[in-house]
Amino acid sequence: MTQFDDAFTMTIDGKAVSSHATLDAINPATEDVIANFPDATREQLEEAVSAAQAAFPSWSRLPVSERQQMVREFGRAIEANGEALMSLLTTEQGKARDGAEFEVGGSAAWCQGIAEQALPEEIIEDNDEHTVFVRRTPLGVVGGITPWNFPILLAVWKIAPALLAGNTMVLKPSPFTPLCTLKLGEIAREIFPAGVLNVVSGGDDLGKWMTAHPQIAKISFTGSTATGKAVMRSASEHMKRVTLECGGNDAAIVLPDVDPKEVAEPLFWGAFANSAQFCVAAKRLYVHEDVYDAVLDELVSYAKDVKVGNGAEAETQLGPIQNRPQYEKLRDLFEDTRRSGASIRLGGEIDDSRGYFVPVTIVDNPADDSRLVREEPFGPILPVLKWSDEDDVIDRANDSDYGLAGSVWGKDTDRARRLAERLETGTVWINEIHQFAPNVPFGGHKQSGMGVENSLEGLSEYTNSQTITLKK
Ligand code: NAD
Repeated sequence: MTQFDDAFTMTIDGKAVSSHATLDAINPATEDVIANFPDATREQLEEAVSAAQAAFPSWSRLPVSERQQMVREFGRAIEANGEALMSLLTTEQGKARDGAEFEVGGSAAWCQGIAEQALPEEIIEDNDEHTVFVRRTPLGVVGGITPWNFPILLAVWKIAPALLAGNTMVLKPSPFTPLCTLKLGEIAREIFPAGVLNVVSGGDDLGKWMTAHPQIAKISFTGSTATGKAVMRSASEHMKRVTLECGGNDAAIVLPDVDPKEVAEPLFWGAFANSAQFCVAAKRLYVHEDVYDAVLDELVSYAKDVKVGNGAEAETQLGPIQNRPQYEKLRDLFEDTRRSGASIRLGGEIDDSRGYFVPVTIVDNPADDSRLVREEPFGPILPVLKWSDEDDVIDRANDSDYGLAGSVWGKDTDRARRLAERLETGTVWINEIHQFAPNVPFGGHKQSGMGVENSLEGLSEYTNSQTITLKK
């Protein structure tokens, strides 16, 4: 499909559902209202949870091969609607065409990858006296809560494994990017039995109602660390399971043996892809003093030619910031960085023209205790920092409450590997970045999250473990 109609409805019990109250979706490149979407009432959430509960017994008893088949079909349907999804994604999220292709193509591929997975029963002991079986049983109704930076992909990261494991789901997108997710619900109506996947939209309160709901067995959340903590507090009331994928302040460490020209391009995209609204963006770039000036020069020279603009325009490589609150937060951080006297090598000035545009900004060796280095900017401003001693750079990289991911760059891969192992993060990439796959676990250490997504380990987080012993 090349274009969706402009009716945005929720999916509850397999049906299209609207609501009396609506909210506006804004195109961040123009600040125009592009659509209205339903602001679900508490009763509508109840209906969605009841539908998911009612669908659970028969869905969970299907052979896994049938659920795998439907997850595959969902992937094919995402692909078939790819053009329409990419164009809507650019309009509501702001990202450029390349980014939309990565997200929509990745979502379709994810369904195929997850559909290969299963958690068969294990016999862990079998002797003359008894047999011990361990089974993985689905949890029931899973609540999915997603952020605004990758609204399709991060929803699919939850939908595919949750459903494959035999759960049913109520999914809530961010109020800043609900449209693509509502369309995913519409696509799913044709594939899954009624009630298996429900999609509801509304404000942050809807998320709170979900985390407090006694009939939701688990919350799979992606978003900020502050909200992740609120989710965990609320989920504790009914001892809901939680998977939390939260914020990060990822360090990239550059060794003295890199070729500055070669490394500049991957470092640039590692830091600025999706306009740096990326949980795993390289957010602190530590460059060895021997190559510091050369790497900084090459990075600035590469960055100068990157085109920031409306994602709908063909030549655009980086779109705007997705929403006004995030744009205002960045304005404040830019102001703080300027006031601190840090040396800004590129960008630095945000003008007041229409759209939430922020220039690519590179800051030369700011203080370790500056806000720019300590906080997660979640926007296109990168501190480049100098190092000389291995222990010192590891201490600085690990001096953070976050522990999502990191990267090490250098020709001496033994040295790179040694440094990688000392980073306190869930993922470390060496000489590459942002490599994800359905069979590779992804999750944060420290306050970047709890649990993992993807892989059999991620799939098993959508299940309980049940042990059965049989005396012979
Ligand atoms: P956010 O925490 O503001 O919102 C995320 C979701 O939570 C939204 O759907 C929102 O409506 C909902 N929500 C808000 N308050 C809630 C509450 N009290 N209870 C339940 N739900 C609530 O995050 P955001 O601004 O949308 O996303 C940006 C953040 O997400 C960044 O910190 C980024 O690093 C993080 N992120 C992490 C990953 C990861 O995989 N680790 C991926 C993408 C984004």
